[in-house]
Amino acid sequence: MTDELQVYIDGQFYPKSQAKISVYDHGFLYGDGVFEGIREYNGVVFKLKEHIDRLYRSAHAIMLQIPLTKEEMTKAVVETLRKNKLQDSYIRLIVSRGLGDLGLDPRKCPKPTVIVITDTINIKAGNAKEVGITTMFSWVRRNPVDATTHEIKSLNYLNSVLAKIEANANGVDEAICLESSGCIAEGVGENIFIVKDGEIFTPPTSTGALAGITADVVAEVCGKLDIDLIITNLTPFMLFTADEAFFTGTAMEMVPIREVNKRIIGNGKPGPLTKKLMLEFQKVIENPKNGTKI
Ligand code: PMP
Repeated sequence: MTDELQVYIDGQFYPKSQAKISVYDHGFLYGDGVFEGIREYNGVVFKLKEHIDRLYRSAHAIMLQIPLTKEEMTKAVVETLRKNKLQDSYIRLIVSRGLGDLGLDPRKCPKPTVIVITDTINIKAGNAKEVGITTMFSWVRRNPVDATTHEIKSLNYLNSVLAKIEANANGVDEAICLESSGCIAEGVGENIFIVKDGEIFTPPTSTGALAGITADVVAEVCGKLDIDLIITNLTPFMLFTADEAFFTGTAMEMVPIREVNKRIIGNGKPGPLTKKLMLEFQKVIENPKNGTKI
């Protein structure tokens, strides 16, 4: 078992099969914690600084004091990756409220639990990037900004899980979440963009969507290519009648959307602007300047 992957928990490394936390951890009991999903490409952790900054912002919002400095957290990620000698891996960074009792009061949890998991990424995208994916609007509304908003990347993902279940039950690749007034928020773990008449549109985070790091890369690429990116509310109608649409996310990267609730988007094929952005996006992830070397 010497070649088992090693998982970092509170400064110690454990083989994957032994990497366990208590059932009294409030991350498990109450979803009380925050996390990040990060990717490493060719020995470089893509946008690690941005992910760590976001982790600390999420923690701040739930008044969780992470017991490591950002530098120490960066080191923990790099050290875990070095130990595991993976190539093109996925990193899951979790900070939970920690061990407490059965009551939900966070004051009962003196020490947050810090976990770094690195593993192979197993996303069976198939030919999704070439042909696009099918989607549907979920019946479950995104949690509003004055509730467990997805602006906080918290361990509360039931909202997304419910939407995903609905997509699965309907034989659709991915769900799209609307916010309470009916405008589009995001996917279950992706931000969404539409293209109309040569301009690109994406919803604001005030829909309860996460400020995506991949979405930021797309924004940068748009700037570079002199393409207008407009952040505004998007209605379901605007997606039905878009020329092109795509998702962005760490796991999915950039994926064209070809259908929503059985309406074909554009001509049903990845559009020219989406393809152009995907090409540029690829260059960004391959550029070692855009991350932290292991
Ligand atoms: N929205 C949600 C709810 C997510 O979980 C994610 C994945 N982190 C995204 C959007 C995309 O964000 P990013 O590009 O930073 O992965």
